[in-house]
Amino acid sequence: MSLNDLFTEIILDHYQHPHNHGLIPNPTYSSRGFNESCGDDVQVSVLIKNGIIADARFSGAGCSISQASASIMTDLVKGKSIEEAKKLASRFYDMVKGTEGEYGEEMGDAISLQGVAKFPVRVKCATLGWHTLEEAFAKNDGPNSSEETK
Ligand code: ZN
Repeated sequence: MSLNDLFTEIILDHYQHPHNHGLIPNPTYSSRGFNESCGDDVQVSVLIKNGIIADARFSGAGCSISQASASIMTDLVKGKSIEEAKKLASRFYDMVKGTEGEYGEEMGDAISLQGVAKFPVRVKCATLGWHTLEEAFAKNDGPNSSEETK
């Protein structure tokens, strides 16, 4: 398997036409993450309404894997609770690190990143968006966090 096999159509499509691109003006949570080994830069913002991720967006620059993975991540977490999003993040880490398991429909387009497991140096690219999302949740000083309703 060559590195080019990683660049499947799904990844390239998300890279060239990213979903949920941009930033939410008044996000509940936001954070910015860097992957210095590759030069990837991802900024993630999330809007929580009634305990559910009503909107998730990202912007940034970097390799196709980092940007496509962030695009896929924003698609997957919308409509989920924070706890569900965190569970999905840990499933995603397992998948790209090559942990044995069944990775089915709940992974959505993220399945296209399964091949990253064969390239440990690119795992950080694939996980950047998800780690940045979790870092955003970990900050409890989101500008609108006091308005969050459960
Ligand atoms: Zn990268």
